[in-house]
Amino acid sequence: MRFAKTVCPICGSKEVARDDLKGDLLCTNCGHIITRHETRAVGKFEIAQHLKREGKLTFEQLKEITKSSDDRLFGVLQSMLSMGLIDELGGKYHLTKRGQRWYRQRLGQEWGY
Ligand SMILES: [Zn+2]
Repeated sequence: MRFAKTVCPICGSKEVARDDLKGDLLCTNCGHIITRHETRAVGKFEIAQHLKREGKLTFEQLKEITKSSDDRLFGVLQSMLSMGLIDELGGKYHLTKRGQRWYRQRLGQEWGY
């Protein structure tokens, strides 16, 4: 392990060490693991959160906000479209009624209700 020139996104500590075997970065203060190379994992819930907050977002805006790779983001959006959770209109994505219902349920699970 050696220290990397990275600040932990969770606690802000500069004591982030690199695990040379796995290539991951580990915050020695809070234990958060920062995975190298791969952009932050993005799922349906994260995208729904952003759509709910912003109303409508283009693919580019979503990419920017989620910091996700094209392929990964596109895959998630495609599956959300096929599940009826989001609609695409004029190149912008927004949550459908069904998507908002799903989002509320998912939010409930998230907080353990
Ligand atoms: Zn940390």
